[in-house]
Amino acid sequence: MKKEIQSLFDKAKELNLSAFMLDVSDIDVENRVRMKCAYGCRGYGKRLSCPPHIISIDEFRKVLNEYSSAILLIEEHDTSGEKGILKAWSRLRKGSFHKMLELEHTAFRHGFVYAQLLRPGACNECDTCAEQCNKPEMRRFPPEAVGINLSILMEKKGLEIEYCNFNRVKCIGILLLE
Ligand code: SF4
Repeated sequence: MKKEIQSLFDKAKELNLSAFMLDVSDIDVENRVRMKCAYGCRGYGKRLSCPPHIISIDEFRKVLNEYSSAILLIEEHDTSGEKGILKAWSRLRKGSFHKMLELEHTAFRHGFVYAQLLRPGACNECDTCAEQCNKPEMRRFPPEAVGINLSILMEKKGLEIEYCNFNRVKCIGILLLE
């Protein structure tokens, strides 16, 4: 499997994504992270990629136990010239998601048949979500939506999120591998 993992890292590099190997035990799932979705996110309930439309934290904890490794994926964007950070975030996370999804597909083709991407931010493939997802093949949820503490995970890898740095924005995803 080492060769297959290396090929995923090569592909990530080709896509301009930074990649860090994870053991699933590195991934902390916390109720307080999910609480921030329900009490504080302006998008709560609007997207089918996010709570309350996705699996619960407890369900995700069980799913996570069925994986042994994962790759933390980061694409950092220079946003110093952007006039509106929210508009930029929408555009940038969509582009990063497409690259990360391509990596998930590559992982599948390399034998990781349960490869599952947790995407950067809420899904914005459509202008608005319909009652039923318009593109279920693209529907993925973000790590925070299932309680993953990204700050702690980044710290474990010697990295930082810098929530209030609007000149550099990081799109962060996790690719679960099995
Ligand atoms: S693909 Fe479209 S309908 Fe489905 S979650 Fe994403 S934005 Fe919503």
